Amino acid sequence: MKIWIQSNTKNISQKVAKQLQSKLLQAGITISANRPDLVVTVGGDGTFLSAFHRFNDQLEHIEFVGIHTGHLGFYTDWQDSEVDNLVEHIVNNQKKTICFPLLDVKVTFKSGVVSHFLSLNESILKRVSQTMRADILIDGRRFERFRGDGVVLSTPSGSTAYSKSLGGALIDPSLAVMQFNEMAPINNRVYRTVNSSLILPKEQVLTVMPAPQSDYIVTIDNLSYDHCSVQKIDYQISCETINIASYRPKRFWLRVRNAFLVDEN
Ligand code: NAP
Repeated sequence: MKIWIQSNTKNISQKVAKQLQSKLLQAGITISANRPDLVVTVGGDGTFLSAFHRFNDQLEHIEFVGIHTGHLGFYTDWQDSEVDNLVEHIVNNQKKTICFPLLDVKVTFKSGVVSHFLSLNESILKRVSQTMRADILIDGRRFERFRGDGVVLSTPSGSTAYSKSLGGALIDPSLAVMQFNEMAPINNRVYRTVNSSLILPKEQVLTVMPAPQSDYIVTIDNLSYDHCSVQKIDYQISCETINIASYRPKRFWLRVRNAFLVDEN
């Protein structure tokens, strides 16, 4: 088995990553970034997102697992005090593979260039300055005309991140749906939006057609593309998923309770 360890730069994460590497090597496991079978992240959810983007062209054969060195994470299952326990589970290969849905983001630029991105949390379209005007289409039919700060499309596992701050619903990642949220919509007779979160099933495509401007910002999780001339973006739940190695039961609602309400098991 080949494993890669991706850590953030915090001292504690570097220390845990070193400890993990030496225990895995002792167990006869190869550490390599070249087509690993398992990627172990050490840090927070942000570190997990970075690892996802580093390896998102190899999703069909990689599994991911996260150790958190800060507060409880949504992608990071293991505490830094549990390295021995995790190594034992990895060596014994006692696990279930859980698949989380991903968002397919197809950006068509004014130049005609089309770029595809995969998002684990969410994708945002907004402007550098001034409000954004855009038509929102569902399956090719106009749904609403938006004017406001921007729009956010999120995955179920991203529902506890930016989407939650906009008042979006929390969604169990076993559901393959995407969520649309508006950022500060202006509502009057010309621009009228539903101003509620929309939750769309896997087959549906939500298209955002912004007014012709060249100062759009497109974010994909923790990556940002600034000053883009976007013609349209098509969002849909991807046919690809991220495989998470689950060595013990994952309880999404317990995690929600621990993160946002009270920290107890
Ligand atoms: P970042 O520092 O990597 O993350 C910002 C915070 O969001 C961190 O506390 C991170 O947790 C947490 N986070 C990431 N994914 C999460 C998830 N699925 N559920 C709950 N919390 C999550 O910041 P970044 O590089 O700017 O962006 C990464 C993500 O941060 C974005 O995808 C976005 O969802 C989120 N974000 C949220 C807001 C907001 O709510 N207003 C603003 C900016 C960014 P860790 O500390 O464990 O890494």
